[in-house]
Amino acid sequence: MIDTNSTENNRGDAQNPALFSPVQFTQVTIDDAFWSPKLQINRERTIPHIYQQCLETGRIDAFGPNWQPDPEITTRLSWGGTPVMFWDSDVAKWLEAACYSLATHFDPQLDTLVDEVIAGIAQAQHADGYLNTWFTTVDPQNRWKNLRDWHELYCAGHMIEAGVAHYRATGKQTLLDVVCRYADYIDGIFGPELDQKHGYPGHPEIELALVKLYHATGQQRYLELSRYFVNERGRQPHYFDHEAQERGDDPATFWAKNYEYSQSHQPVREQQEVVGHAVRAMYLYSAMIDLARKNDETGLQEVCEQLWQHLTTKRMYVTGGIGTSNQNEGFTSDYDLPNESAYAETCAAIGLIFWAQRLLQLDCNRRYTDALELALYNSVLSAISSDGQHFFYENPLASNGHHHRQPWFVCPCCPPNLARLFSSLGEYIYAQSQTDAIVHLYIQGTGRLSVGGQVVTLHQETDYPWEGKVAVRVVPEQPGTFGLRLRIPGWCRSAGVQVNGEDISLTNRLAHGYIRIERLWQPGDVVTLELPMPIERLSAHPDIQADQGQIALQRGPLIYCLEQCDHAQPLHRLVLPSTAALTGQFEPELLGGVVVLRGTATSLDTSGWKDALYRPHPPAVHPTPITAIPYYAWDNRAPGAMRVWIQT
Ligand SMILES: [Zn+2]
Repeated sequence: MIDTNSTENNRGDAQNPALFSPVQFTQVTIDDAFWSPKLQINRERTIPHIYQQCLETGRIDAFGPNWQPDPEITTRLSWGGTPVMFWDSDVAKWLEAACYSLATHFDPQLDTLVDEVIAGIAQAQHADGYLNTWFTTVDPQNRWKNLRDWHELYCAGHMIEAGVAHYRATGKQTLLDVVCRYADYIDGIFGPELDQKHGYPGHPEIELALVKLYHATGQQRYLELSRYFVNERGRQPHYFDHEAQERGDDPATFWAKNYEYSQSHQPVREQQEVVGHAVRAMYLYSAMIDLARKNDETGLQEVCEQLWQHLTTKRMYVTGGIGTSNQNEGFTSDYDLPNESAYAETCAAIGLIFWAQRLLQLDCNRRYTDALELALYNSVLSAISSDGQHFFYENPLASNGHHHRQPWFVCPCCPPNLARLFSSLGEYIYAQSQTDAIVHLYIQGTGRLSVGGQVVTLHQETDYPWEGKVAVRVVPEQPGTFGLRLRIPGWCRSAGVQVNGEDISLTNRLAHGYIRIERLWQPGDVVTLELPMPIERLSAHPDIQADQGQIALQRGPLIYCLEQCDHAQPLHRLVLPSTAALTGQFEPELLGGVVVLRGTATSLDTSGWKDALYRPHPPAVHPTPITAIPYYAWDNRAPGAMRVWIQT
């Protein structure tokens, strides 16, 4: 096994003490009543399921030497046939998920399977380093002809991430060598020289992957190539115009109408609003922070802070979902957040988590962690069924009963994205700096941190997200003075903190939503947090038309919803008076164990309406019990309607 402490991310950033590095998931053990069963399902059901889907659809065989595409294929966008030009990315993301799983729960059978798949990929690589099944077999004459639409660099990015993950998890360099050769080849094709292409991907992804490759190999040219792709983006004359003309196409006929779709409408430093395809945006912004973190790229952090502010104050759902429209799989206009038609792609919420985690490395600020947690526990977790084998691509906030998770999709980007996030979940819980140990998320288990060269182990005990009590036992190797930062979530109005049973005042200790306690820590010191979780009724900004006259229920980090199977009346007839009492109760047998919220609402009465469609006085009402379940858990029982926003 590779020494995971040897990587930059786990060094505590000796060069820049202001940085907060995530603690790698290999240094984190999760032993949590909420998450452990979900992560076990991810290992035992989701990862094998995704492999099986990749196998059955031909994605694995497509790397084989004798593979031939379906002769029925005539157009690039006939997604109902086989193959599709982003197939390689699905296999790569499965590999990444499998490798992370191997790193924490070694499984010799999975290890062998991973080696077999990698051997197939390696033999598919061209002598010049090129590696892409679509442009090898289906469309070999069109290599690098359409960066705007054709996902070539996107697939390369995911393969690079898989190569780095495999190396980190197993110490084996088989896939890392393949992706280094591919990256070297790409580095020759793209760049500022006259004989190079001055392009960049329509779908960002390779930018953040190249930074990972740089960290894994120490090769500066990968970082430079990432920087080139980010800095070249959106410059005039526009590369996507140029390559369209080279193909003989009129750039004005671009189906998406303008380059906001791929965040290439302006140079990245001039962008002030989140626009376009939401997943593309999140991957691009993540890479921008990766580069900002290298200290020598000015302006990128400030741009991302502005974009973050715009996203979270004008274009984000209450569930942490982002991207309103299925037209562009992305953003529309400010406050345009309809519920039933919400796109809120799973990958976009996962991308938000990637971006938030990177922002936290520059600024330990709960505004990032709160959104990360909101997306994780709601818009992301809703995307997977309790059996781990059915998935939402879209995560709407209301349903008429026809939206259900599917085992697979023609474009199955979301399932393996979930699998790789969950198998590396440990990486989002803690952070470390030269002077501080940081707890971002409250998940029971252990983190092994490096603070100023000293190993500090943190043991968390908690029933989060159901209860807000968290005990953190601090075990430095030797007694030592350092800061311990604990997040006070934005949803929590009055937190209590004790050290070894004695109350600690938050006054003067709170910075950016984290309490910082600096003292001479002795092994076994215990910090206890009390984060009360009253049931909150959330109102939406007056300009969010879809939510007016309604409230959403929240308890702790969880957003709640009504599901039809808990109610005798159609959900649209239910009205929750502002004075109605609501109580929370843990139901161990329901949906894997959840806190449900109960109260008495009123139901609009249809008796007395006979054949009237309209009448000059309102319907009568009668009291009716109401039950809300966590949003993430909906569509795991009888199919039916669902709504997050409830009339009040
Ligand atoms: Zn997706």
